[in-house]
Amino acid sequence: MTKRIFQSTMLVAGAVLTASVLIIMGCLYNYFDKIVEQQMKEALILAVQGVENNGVDYLNELASSTYRLTWVSAKGDVIYDTQVNANELENHGNRKEIKEALESREGFSLRYSITLLERTIYQALRLKDGSVLRISISHLTSWILALGMLQPILIVFFGALILSGILAQKVSKRIMEPLNNLDLECPLNHDVYEELTPLLTRIHQQRRQIEWQIQELQHKNDEFTQITQSMTEGLVLLNQKGFILNINPAAMKFFHTDHTCIDRDFLEIERSEEVSQALKIAMTNDHSEIHLEREGKEYRLSISRIESNGEIIGAVILIFDISEQTFAERNRREFTANVSHELKTPLQSIMGSAELIENGLVKQEDLPRFIGHIHTEAKRLVTLIEDIIRLSQLDETQELPFEEVNLLVVVNEVVASLHDEALKKNITIDVTAEEVYIHSVRQLVYEIIYNLCDNAIKYNKMEGKVEISIQKDEQKVILTVKDTGIGIPVEHQMRVFERFFRVDKSHSKESGGTGLGLSIVKHAVQYLNGTIDLESVLGEGTTIQVIL
Ligand code: ADP
Repeated sequence: MTKRIFQSTMLVAGAVLTASVLIIMGCLYNYFDKIVEQQMKEALILAVQGVENNGVDYLNELASSTYRLTWVSAKGDVIYDTQVNANELENHGNRKEIKEALESREGFSLRYSITLLERTIYQALRLKDGSVLRISISHLTSWILALGMLQPILIVFFGALILSGILAQKVSKRIMEPLNNLDLECPLNHDVYEELTPLLTRIHQQRRQIEWQIQELQHKNDEFTQITQSMTEGLVLLNQKGFILNINPAAMKFFHTDHTCIDRDFLEIERSEEVSQALKIAMTNDHSEIHLEREGKEYRLSISRIESNGEIIGAVILIFDISEQTFAERNRREFTANVSHELKTPLQSIMGSAELIENGLVKQEDLPRFIGHIHTEAKRLVTLIEDIIRLSQLDETQELPFEEVNLLVVVNEVVASLHDEALKKNITIDVTAEEVYIHSVRQLVYEIIYNLCDNAIKYNKMEGKVEISIQKDEQKVILTVKDTGIGIPVEHQMRVFERFFRVDKSHSKESGGTGLGLSIVKHAVQYLNGTIDLESVLGEGTTIQVIL
C-alpha cells in the first residue's frame, strides 16, 4: 500500500509539474509576445515619423536594426526594404497587414515559416502620402524556444520530481504508519482515520464473533477430550487419508503408542493386515468389525466411516475389551456341557439299577444295596442341583440381604451339621474363635464355611484334624480352615476353584462331591468383596483363608 500511495503521489506530482511548466511557458511566451508587439508598434510609429520627414535616408540609417522595415507604395510595390533589395521583392499589395493598413491605417498579421520553426510578426501603418511602412520581426516558435530551454526545464523538472519523491515517500509512510501499527486485538482503540471507522467496527465485531466461536469450539473439544480420556473403550479418529486426528489413552495403550502418533498414518501404528483390510472395508461399506487377540485378551474393533454432506471425511475406530464377555461365554458353554454330563451320570446309574430291579435281575439279598445305590445317586443329584441353583443365583448377582452376622454362631452351626461326617473318619474339629460380628449375607457366609469345612473333612485322612479360626483386626476378618488331609498338587491349586474341577474324580464322587463347592466359595467371597488364599502341601494338608 505504501508503494501504491507513493506511486500515485508521484504520478500526480509529475502531472502537476508538467502542466505547470507548460502553462508557465505559455504565459511567458504570450507575455513576451505582447511586449515585443508593443515595442514594435512604438518603433514603427517612430519610423513612420522618420520616413515622413526624411524619406529613404532615414531607413538607410536603420538598416542594421533588429527589426526589418519595408516601405510599400500605395500600389503595393516595395519602395525600400532594410534587409532585402527592394527590386527583388514582389508586390506586397496582397499581404494581409498591408491590405489592412491601406484600408484602415493599421495592419497586423502573423505568419509561420513552412517548417513552423519560425514565426514572423508584421505590423503596418499607413503614411500620410498613402504609402505603408511595415515593421516585422521573426523569432523562433514556442516549440523551439521550449527546446532551447529544455536543459534548465529538465533540471528544474527533475529537481522538483526528486523533491516530490522524497515528500511522497514521507507522506505515504506517515499515512501508513497508523495502519501498520493497527492493533487488531482492539481495533477501535486506534481509530485514527474516521474513514476507517466502519471497517474497524466490522473487524471488532467479527473478532468478538470469532473469539466466541473459538471458545465454544474449545469448550466442545474439552468436553470431547474429557469423555474420551475416561473411556475404557479405545477410540481413534482418522481423516479421509487415514491419518490420526485424535486418539484416547485406552487406544494408545492398545496400539502401544503415545501422543506422537497424532497426524501420522494409522497404518504406521497398526501394521496388521487384518486391521488395514477392515479399515478398507469400512471406508467402502460404511462399517466393519473384527475380533483381535492381544496379550491374552480378546478385543472387538468396530470401524465406521464418517460422512458429511455425502462426502467421506474420515473414520472412527472403537476398541472394546470383550475378554470377560468371551470368557463368560466360554464358561457358560462349558458349564452347560458339564452340567448335562454331571446330571446324566447319576441318572444313568439310577436308571440302570432301577431297570435291573424292575426286570427281577437283582437277587433279594442284593436289593438293599441297589436301593441304597439309587438313594446315594439321587442324593448326589439333589446336591448337584442345589449347588447349580446356588451358583446361578450368585451369577445373576441378585440383591441379597445384608445383616449383622455372628461368625462364631455360623461356624458352630456348620460344625454341628458336619459332625456325623467327621465322626465317620474320626476327625477332630477345633474352633479357635471369639464372637465376631460382620455386616454380611448370612446365607453366603454359611455356604463359604460349610464348603470349606466339608472339603477339609472329605479330603482328610482318618483320624485327621480340622482347625477353624476367626481373627479380626480393625479392617478385616480372616477365616481360616486348615486340615491335615491329602493336600492339593501345586499344578491344580489354581484350578480347584473352577466349576466341576476335581483333582481326583473318583475320590470326589465317592465322597459325594459335585466339583462345585469351591466355585460357590469363590463366587460368594467375590460377592462379599473378599479374597481367598490357598496353601496346600501334598500329603500334609491344606489351609484356605478367606479375608472379608
Ligand atoms: P468337590 O465337590 O469335588 O469337593 P470342590 O469344588 O469343593 O468340589 O473342590 C474341587 C476339588 O478340589 C476337589 O474335588 C478336590 O480334589 C480338591 N479339594 C478341595 N478342597 C480340598 C482339601 N481341603 N484338601 C484336598 N483337596 C481338596
